[in-house]
Amino acid sequence: MLKIAIYGKGGIGKSTTAANLSAALSEAGLKVCQIGCDPKNDSTRLLLGHICKQTVLDTVRDKEEVLPEDIVHFGYRGIKCVEAGGPEPGVGCAGRGIIVALEKLRELDVIGEEDVLLYDVLGDVVCGGFAVPIREGYASDIYIVSSGELMSLYAANNIAKGIKRFAQRGNVRLGGIIGNGRNTPNEKQLLEEFAQRLHTRLIAFIPRDIVVNKAENNRQTVLQYAPESAQAQVYRDLSQAILHNEELSIPMPMSFEDLEKLVADYGH
Ligand code: ADP
Ligand code: MG
Repeated sequence: MLKIAIYGKGGIGKSTTAANLSAALSEAGLKVCQIGCDPKNDSTRLLLGHICKQTVLDTVRDKEEVLPEDIVHFGYRGIKCVEAGGPEPGVGCAGRGIIVALEKLRELDVIGEEDVLLYDVLGDVVCGGFAVPIREGYASDIYIVSSGELMSLYAANNIAKGIKRFAQRGNVRLGGIIGNGRNTPNEKQLLEEFAQRLHTRLIAFIPRDIVVNKAENNRQTVLQYAPESAQAQVYRDLSQAILHNEELSIPMPMSFEDLEKLVADYGH
């Protein structure tokens, strides 16, 4: 079983990329399960066609005995969709919520015969809770979504620091950077060099395309909404690159000063 986690700064395109990747992997004949680990609960929206109403944490809170069918939902092409959920906004620790939710999934043994497990995880690894998918061996192949914006690369670099730490005592590896375009100067070249400096590679560069927004407004992945589009093909290519990736590495994060200089060098 391929156990993937997608990390990256909030709003950078993790859930969009994850849902399209899941759809592409399913098209390729694989059984897929996507697990949203973000208190926003919107990771699987494009697969389900709506916001997931029953998250793991909600269910654990509301029901004495939780059944697998309470928390596993089926989306586009039968893809299994799970949302860890989170505390009510403003109360409780979201990271702690991820721990509880993933323990519940393991306990209920809801994930069995899948070929690919895909965790979509919020933001930086600043909170221990969000590091759980990599720390506890839930996921082994990590991909980081980033644009060419400094703060997105900064978050990516911090995530690489977390991966490096856990790689030293486990089998977690960085599979690559997934570029998600924001039309910054020389973006693809910058991302390629950034990846190289981190001892990894740019596994795909996804252009910014309005078809992504149109599909989102229709509550669909691009693969479903516009299967013949060039953008759909970009996600298919990403899925193949991930399936055949043999270049997983222990990353070498950069200093903030070096990162700033790198971005400045490309940024005009
Ligand atoms: P995250 O999960 O990292 O918080 P999302 O996947 O929710 O981010 O994406 C944030 C917004 O950016 C969404 O409205 C999404 O449609 C848009 N978006 C993501 N990738 C692209 C892209 N390649 N082209 C155009 N819009 C995109
Ligand atoms: Mg998201």
